[in-house]
Amino acid sequence: MPVPFADLQLQYQTIKREIDAAIAGVIRDSAFIRGRYVDDFERKFAEAVDVKHCVSCANGTDALYLAMAGLKVKPGDEVITTAHSWISTSAMITHAGATVVFCDTDGSAFTIDPAAIEAAITPRTVGIIPVHLYGQPADMDAIMAIARKHKLWVIEDCAQAHLARYKGKMIGTFGEAATYSFYPGKNLGAMGDAGAVVTNDAVLAEHMTMLARHGGLMKHQHRIEGINSRLDGMQAAILSAKLPHLPAWTKARQDAARIYDVGLNQLEDVIVPQVAPERSHVYHLYTIKHPHRDALAAHLSANGVQTAINYPTALPFLAAYERFGHRPEQFPNAFADQGRILSLPMFAEITPEQQGEVIDLIKAFEMKNGLKKLQHGR
Ligand SMILES: *Cc1c(COP(=O)(O)O)cnc(C)c1O
Repeated sequence: MPVPFADLQLQYQTIKREIDAAIAGVIRDSAFIRGRYVDDFERKFAEAVDVKHCVSCANGTDALYLAMAGLKVKPGDEVITTAHSWISTSAMITHAGATVVFCDTDGSAFTIDPAAIEAAITPRTVGIIPVHLYGQPADMDAIMAIARKHKLWVIEDCAQAHLARYKGKMIGTFGEAATYSFYPGKNLGAMGDAGAVVTNDAVLAEHMTMLARHGGLMKHQHRIEGINSRLDGMQAAILSAKLPHLPAWTKARQDAARIYDVGLNQLEDVIVPQVAPERSHVYHLYTIKHPHRDALAAHLSANGVQTAINYPTALPFLAAYERFGHRPEQFPNAFADQGRILSLPMFAEITPEQQGEVIDLIKAFEMKNGLKKLQHGR
């Protein structure tokens, strides 16, 4: 029985009636762009993640741009972010006009190392973008202490961590603003592109709303030059239908993670995700470390199990950042991790049987490798 990496069709089947009704409603009302479905989702999502304002937009990448433009980032500014993320985080720093400064990860949680942030600060630093990678919050106490000390803003990239908490407090409520992606595969996913930026600052929220709507709040009153980044009514209605299910889906991911933890922890070569104290992990991805990652991935693939590498090249070493001339020694954890991380199948509807199959295949791989080691010894 093949095990997919994720199964969006399966999730749709469990809530088909709600989704179909939501889509039909938008078509009936011709509420394709903006309108009440969008307003409704913004209100519900803000409530779900404990913030006052939600500014919806076209995707999680635009959300990062809108947050930085809203905070008036300008050329010459430096913005610090993690070496281990999806490229949107760093690319939008550049597109907002600032200079990207990468920091290494902490070596266990895959999130930015606060000590590295402190070392990277210069008189030109204006802000920090921690990423709650794979669904685990970054070390927000340490990051906020550094931000306060140096008077920097913080934008939390929550694209992979809907409903995750740090010391009981919802992520996305620590900094000036926080960004979300509702890309179909994310923990809360639309049926197309969608995103949002949230904040408790009413002035910032209004400014970001203008930026996303051609620079104005009213038609033909362009107070600034903005962009066109709209959430469409169909995606908003779909997201509103899915949102009430998110807590249960999150719990299902966490339960599935426990099954992997128990099944894989005993294996010598496998390092399961390490969750730091007082952080809730929502497992957008369940990513292990393995010294023979490529051979293990090939073994799983040959036996029908899909895996992924998130991400095969850490940001500083991508061709897009060649201009910085970064070296592996500057980011030892991110560099080591790019060669040993492997994301296993993870979705709310995954069954214990499917997980058992993945675990058994990894055990079989370990046995084979162990035997090879013995033969070498002879
Ligand atoms: C998915 C993702 C984004 C971008 O979101 P899109 O909706 O795909 O534009 C940004 N940051 C991180 C960490 C992500 O995982």
